[in-house]
Amino acid sequence: MTAITLATPLAGWAMPLSEVPDPAFAQGLVGTGMAIDPTVNELRSPCDGTVLSVHRARHACTVRTASGAEVLLHLGVDTVGLNGEGFTAHVQDGQSVKTGDRLISFDMDLVGSRAQSLVSMMVVVNDGYTVDGLSVDREIAAGDAAMTVRGGSSADAGLPVAAPDSGEEGSGETGERSVVLPIASGLHARPAAALVAATKAYPGTVTIHCRDRRANAKSVVALMGLGTMLGDRLTVRAAGPGAQDMAESIAVLIEGGLGDPVVAGAAAGAGSQAAPAAPPAAPAPAQPAAEEEVGPPFAPGEEVLLKGTIAVPGQAVGTVVRRFRSAVRVVEQGAGPDIEEPRLRRALEQVVASLAHSAQRMPEHAAIFQAHRELLDDPELLDGALADIRAGKSAEWSWQRTARLQADTLAALADPRMAERAADLRDLEQQVLTALSGKGPDVGLAELPAGSIVLADEILPSDLAGVPAGRLAGIGMAHGGPTSHAVILAAALGVPTVVALARQAERVPDGAPVVIDGNRGELLVFPPEDTLAATRTAVAARTARREENRLTSREECRMADGTRIEVFANLGRVSDAPGAVVEGAEGCGLLRTEFLFLERQSAPTEDEQYQQYQQIADALEGRPLVIRTLDVGGDKPLSYLPLPKEENPVLGLRGVRVGLREPELLRAQIRAILRVKPVGVCRIMVPMIASPSELQAVRAMVDEERAKLGRTEPIELGAMIEVPAAALIADRIGAVADFLSIGTNDLTQYVLAMDRGNPHVAAQLDALHPGVLRLIRLAVMGAKTHDRVVAVCGGSASDPMAAPLLIGLGVTELSATPAVIADLKAFIRTLRMEDCRRVAEAALGTDSADEVRRLVAESWPAL
Ligand code: PEP
Ligand code: MG
Repeated sequence: MTAITLATPLAGWAMPLSEVPDPAFAQGLVGTGMAIDPTVNELRSPCDGTVLSVHRARHACTVRTASGAEVLLHLGVDTVGLNGEGFTAHVQDGQSVKTGDRLISFDMDLVGSRAQSLVSMMVVVNDGYTVDGLSVDREIAAGDAAMTVRGGSSADAGLPVAAPDSGEEGSGETGERSVVLPIASGLHARPAAALVAATKAYPGTVTIHCRDRRANAKSVVALMGLGTMLGDRLTVRAAGPGAQDMAESIAVLIEGGLGDPVVAGAAAGAGSQAAPAAPPAAPAPAQPAAEEEVGPPFAPGEEVLLKGTIAVPGQAVGTVVRRFRSAVRVVEQGAGPDIEEPRLRRALEQVVASLAHSAQRMPEHAAIFQAHRELLDDPELLDGALADIRAGKSAEWSWQRTARLQADTLAALADPRMAERAADLRDLEQQVLTALSGKGPDVGLAELPAGSIVLADEILPSDLAGVPAGRLAGIGMAHGGPTSHAVILAAALGVPTVVALARQAERVPDGAPVVIDGNRGELLVFPPEDTLAATRTAVAARTARREENRLTSREECRMADGTRIEVFANLGRVSDAPGAVVEGAEGCGLLRTEFLFLERQSAPTEDEQYQQYQQIADALEGRPLVIRTLDVGGDKPLSYLPLPKEENPVLGLRGVRVGLREPELLRAQIRAILRVKPVGVCRIMVPMIASPSELQAVRAMVDEERAKLGRTEPIELGAMIEVPAAALIADRIGAVADFLSIGTNDLTQYVLAMDRGNPHVAAQLDALHPGVLRLIRLAVMGAKTHDRVVAVCGGSASDPMAAPLLIGLGVTELSATPAVIADLKAFIRTLRMEDCRRVAEAALGTDSADEVRRLVAESWPAL
């Protein structure tokens, strides 16, 4: 029998488990071992072994010894609810560790003040091992012998960690039950232990399936390793005697919270197949809330310019097709359940069919439509609506009430995934109402006449799936941000899009002629006939000119006086790259890697990232590829990366701050980039740098990973200038960066103190404000002291009006959206540096962005 001595993972006061202020640990339900009240803030490995899993909230991790014992190290009591706040993981799943290696560090003040207790547990959680020789009731130093684990063998460990779901089931009696997880922090140690306690005596097997993973329900580690979250749909599968009863009883336990509080409403977002629950008990009649008055429709001939935010560039003339939610008329009184219930069921069937159709049309976004399908399957939704119908209400009223109620419940939960589901539910609310209106879910958009410009509160992914190519000329949204799913799809369709037009957009009547200008973020309503005609001519001329510009767009870009300006492309997906080269991109100046991370349930592996980067590098055929490290946080939360809920997320954990807090995530990305061939083609760019020390910390990681990979060649490391402080001390940042790239989207938002997603300030959010330009000049001057190249990769690099100013201020590389590159290069070829400098200098002395734009328009009237 093997005996392994575990070293103390944390210095402090060692105590028996029975003294832990958590009944699951105190009663030995989680496992056998000891506890320590720590005096240090670093958790170290108690043995040589393999990290089985680091909990997504980083408060716990499990190490497997060579003898197969699974040692759970759990920092503090009730710390899972901190959602990672205050904890930094230094290891990742599958990593080999030695005794004493640092596993997790934590902020003692923060965790101590927010958690129930800092007392931390070290327990062996799998069967077949005994623990003795416990060093408790004394002060203990890190590394001291803490306890001895005897026996077992790794072969006994069963299914130790959450594994990919192969779908295989054993033969014999089986049972299955689906259930929605109603526990705020997912299956963390306490509920996992309760689940194990309930299944342990069962002679057969019980597995819990979540997304595409499964875990042995008799293993705490495996259950924790599933990474479940509130609202996840779990499938309980049992095999053995009385399997169906077993699955049922486990599901009921899960529904009861397994000892944790049950969060009401979680089932609504998960499309549960659990037993139908009572319809939501809302006392209020939930008629759509009285909407804020927006004013009467604009009258024909009333020329109005609405300003929003650039989402997809391009210009179009067209006719408005309204898709505002308020446009669907909902009457409360129904024609009786015999009529209303079949109507609702038919409408639901129609939407289901339409979702299948959408998934076929856009296979790359099938997951979005599948998620919608699952929501529609939720019996709570149907039952809620049917209850109202039976009370005499119309199918529309009943469906809308139930869907809104559940969407509001979800939106109120502090979980970004639930908020996404709330948005999906609102989408479905509308789809079903449209189907009920008799049009059929897909018909409205499928029958769009050519030249339609759709105006909506917010276009949804499903709307775009039904649009035949070439019919949709433009999109204007009252709300929405430039990075939404729908905008990504609109960009893929090449449809000029303006978001954040605010509620004035609702005043534009159906059929109104409009000009949408995705380059400026504007919508011109009821333009006079001559303006319309002139714009049509201009659009046609631009199209022709662009075709002509494409003929030379692959040549290098030099100004009329010979000054070299590099024009790169901003990319977000592998499939963008070949088209960018065709448009004339001389490289990629910004690969927004978060798009590779956003559409997933789990972090992409290093290999997956490497493959994507390599494919992009291959498509660029040797041209430079600037890969920006993960820029999540703020408005781009990741479901599998729990960041604390923040009052002002845009001023919180974003960009490099997330990377430094999640070093393993960043290191995996760095390694993937370092592996791309040929060596030298990639550069690394770090977002949201505010101080040189942040870049130095990333450089240290790059150097370490480079050494580990045995790569001797250096790699260029650049800083994005998006934080005003970084622009002000660009000379200091330039000392440690190989290049600088200005992110004008964020720089503008921070300099002007205007949220880039807020429709109320969108009209003033202009990167050509002289304050922004002055900061750009400072950044360029700072960089020059170290001879560093300064690029611009924010939205203004795609704005032809900005080009002469940026060049005049000393920027030598523009990274633009691929669609504008041919025109941009052609325009730059007409410019002379002395003119650019003169106009840029004058622009710095103006009062407003409007004045700057006037100045540029006067200097280059052809723009
Ligand atoms: C920017 O802020 O200008 C930028 C390029 O980054 P993103 O738009 O992705 O935030
Ligand atoms: Mg940015």
